[in-house]
Amino acid sequence: MRIIVPIKQVPETGAVKMDEATGTMIREGVEAIVNPLDLYGLELAIALREAAGQDGAEVVTISMGPPKADKAIREAIAMGCDRGVLISHRAFAGSDTWATSYALSAAIAKLSPFDLIVCGERATDGDTGQVGPGIAAFCDLPVVTYVSKLRGIDGGRMIVERLVEDGHEVLEVDLPAVITVVKEIGDPRLPTLRGKQRARAADVPVWGPDDMDVEPDKLGLDGSPTRVVKIHKPTVARECEKLAAGDEESAAAASDRVVEFLKEKHLI
Ligand SMILES: Cc1cc2nc3c(=O)[nH]c(=O)nc-3n(C[C@H](O)[C@H](O)[C@H](O)COP(=O)(O)OP(=O)(O)OC[C@H]3O[C@@H](n4cnc5c(N)ncnc54)[C@H](O)[C@@H]3O)c2cc1C
Repeated sequence: MRIIVPIKQVPETGAVKMDEATGTMIREGVEAIVNPLDLYGLELAIALREAAGQDGAEVVTISMGPPKADKAIREAIAMGCDRGVLISHRAFAGSDTWATSYALSAAIAKLSPFDLIVCGERATDGDTGQVGPGIAAFCDLPVVTYVSKLRGIDGGRMIVERLVEDGHEVLEVDLPAVITVVKEIGDPRLPTLRGKQRARAADVPVWGPDDMDVEPDKLGLDGSPTRVVKIHKPTVARECEKLAAGDEESAAAASDRVVEFLKEKHLI
């Protein structure tokens, strides 16, 4: 069994800054970490390998990003991944979610055969949640998003619970498949000292366009069908009316005013 876990390196801070002129993220000068939601995907994959027994089961992580994303791969290996591949080349720069999914799916094809691809629910910076389903589309695989529990995996099929607004759906899916997982799937483990030593010594190959079966015009900014045209923070306008209600008389006046206000807004 081979499980592939795509992980993204994201800025440590939740307050992502954007370059308003180019519409791209400002990543310089910000500490980078593994997307926290991807740790849950890593945990599931490692736990599945453990349950399958060490023989013949393998967890491979991949990340597309700048050379410093090598650190994210090593963190995943320290957690328990068997190996990792970094997808990095200036040809990938400026990729939108479509071009990112395309490049990652080409890397995944090169890692064939595999049984399962486990993505995080979303990345804390781009925040679209599109890359998991995008990979599934390019690889022509079934996809289940928001998986909160794996009930069983056997004989080329998997039964999962999927988080929906008012509860859970139970789905059976043929393997190989792509799933994106939510936090309920299980708390990620911490890296061990042995894992850290293994990660330091690990060989992390870097693949560029020449290492994969890709069409160059589908990569990077030029290959991206979407553009960030404008970025702006919405201005939140709050009109406030303070009502004093310190004694019986002013409390009565205040409640009259509240009723009047709700009527004005056609809320009652
Ligand atoms: C219109 C548009 C233009 C953009 N232009 C630029 C740009 O010019 N420069 C720039 O730096 N960024 C750009 N981005 C952002 C960048 O392309 C996205 O961050 C990237 O496509 C991943 O999308 P996301 O962050 O929304 O991930 P999500 O779809 O929210 O991530 C879901 C899951 O997919 C996997 N995943 C996502 N990204 C990766 C990755 N890179 N490697 C491995 N696994 C991954 C992880 O498992 C993750 O949990 C752009 C995005 C858009 C929408």
